[in-house]
Amino acid sequence: MKQTKVAIIGGGVTGVSMLSHLVHDERFTSGITVDIYDNAYTMGRGQAYQEDNEHLLINVPADEMSLGESHPDYKSWLKPENGQELYTSRQQFGDYVKDQLETIASTHEEVHLRYAKVDGIEYDSSSGKFTLSIDEEEVLYDRVFLTIGQLRYGDPYNLKGSQGFLYDPYPLSRKLADIEDDNIGILGAGLSAIDCVRYLILDKQVKKVSLFSRSGDMPSVRGERAEIILRHFTEESLRDRIQNDEIALTDIIALFKEELAHQNIDESLFFRRTGNTLQDLNYDLEHQETVGRLQYLIIKVNPIFSDVYQYLSRNDKKAFLEKYHHLIEENHSPMPAEVARLLVQWGDEGRLHIIDGTEHIKKEDGFTILTKEGGEYRVDTLINATGPVKDVRRGDSEIIQSLMNHMIIAPSEFGGIMVDASRHVISPKVGTVRGMYALGALTIGSDYLSNSVQLLQKNAQKLINRFYEDIY
Ligand SMILES: Cc1cc2nc3c(=O)[nH]c(=O)nc-3n(C[C@H](O)[C@H](O)[C@H](O)COP(=O)(O)OP(=O)(O)OC[C@H]3O[C@@H](n4cnc5c(N)ncnc54)[C@H](O)[C@@H]3O)c2cc1C
Repeated sequence: MKQTKVAIIGGGVTGVSMLSHLVHDERFTSGITVDIYDNAYTMGRGQAYQEDNEHLLINVPADEMSLGESHPDYKSWLKPENGQELYTSRQQFGDYVKDQLETIASTHEEVHLRYAKVDGIEYDSSSGKFTLSIDEEEVLYDRVFLTIGQLRYGDPYNLKGSQGFLYDPYPLSRKLADIEDDNIGILGAGLSAIDCVRYLILDKQVKKVSLFSRSGDMPSVRGERAEIILRHFTEESLRDRIQNDEIALTDIIALFKEELAHQNIDESLFFRRTGNTLQDLNYDLEHQETVGRLQYLIIKVNPIFSDVYQYLSRNDKKAFLEKYHHLIEENHSPMPAEVARLLVQWGDEGRLHIIDGTEHIKKEDGFTILTKEGGEYRVDTLINATGPVKDVRRGDSEIIQSLMNHMIIAPSEFGGIMVDASRHVISPKVGTVRGMYALGALTIGSDYLSNSVQLLQKNAQKLINRFYEDIY
């Protein structure tokens, strides 16, 4: 085999998983050299697991987090005093991933940690080589893995740059540390909004925090763990239904309903929400067994569904996203029960307010939030927790702009970029780019709800397998 020079762009969980599967594969030889790029702050941690406040928790129990078989699992890596905790801080998980990355680098002379951002990429389709621009330097590679994580944050009300508006709040312990305000607004009601609430109330002792969102919906509360053995919604039965490279949404729904019935899960659980968020959290806390069965079923079928997601026709994909996605999403990344209990308590004490129906925000002498029902709320400080954009045309990082400009990547209408079934990048100029692979937030249009550590890690393994098939 000829020498192969590989670049992994992004040292978060996906990049590290990719590297790990690459070097631990029996086909790995000293002919393959790997440079992994990220800045020093996020190398080995990515966005989610950077050094930050201890109250920012992983939403998955520690014993369900792992980087794969070549590493000690997270639970056994943790020091005994922390190993007892069901949910650890995300920073601690970052310590674990970084430690695994540094171990790989110190035991493989072919692997180099490059503490720099890649600013641009060009591709020569005749030689199949990529030129990466890093600061003033240009470096040639044979294969490139794009694992750059999420795109920039959204700004639905065009508030970026306004006084008192925190556009990107992470790391909270740095960006929110100097806030001296006892009435703070947060835009959004998802996991990032919950991070902000916990930090502000637990650490900064803020008296009143209000969450403003369009729907007010929060993730559900993680119920009891359930062992699910699938009978109907299996890989084989779904594959059997693929014809002419397509699977019908009606077939998928029918199989899923059969599975629900087999698992004794009442379909009405999907429609348990009342619109009163704190009441809904209480419901989940009081029904941990039934809610847990539904959540663990969803977690179990997620990778199987994600594998056939790309076989849905365009119309079926749209129909799925419109009709069913929110029902799955609400139950997919639940928050720990201990987090929910505190939210309910703060709600009862009048310290936390959840206001839905946000329609418009006026900027004048602070922020006035107007809701559909005619409500008007005023805050001086507003924190953005609306999450990242999905459309690469709105991503403003230099690397995205460079890839778009050289027509190496193209947007997918379902978010992220166009990739083939093996996650090779599809260029509008030269077609499938066999030397470039993408995974993570860039492939959300193809990998359904696959941004959890477990799924990223599994998908990285598949992708590395494809890489070895490509080079040998
Ligand atoms: C606040 C938050 C909390 C989360 N909590 C959980 C959780 O509890 N459990 C869970 O399973 N999942 C959680 N997630 C999902 C999380 O996104 C994934 O678990 C995972 O961390 C994604 O990893 P990634 O490597 O794909 O992306 P990222 O973590 O975003 O890493 C991408 C890396 O690429 C680097 N990069 C970008 N551009 C360049 C460039 N041009 N050159 C070099 N490097 C570059 C970035 O600096 C970054 O470090 C959370 C996500 C967020 C944002």
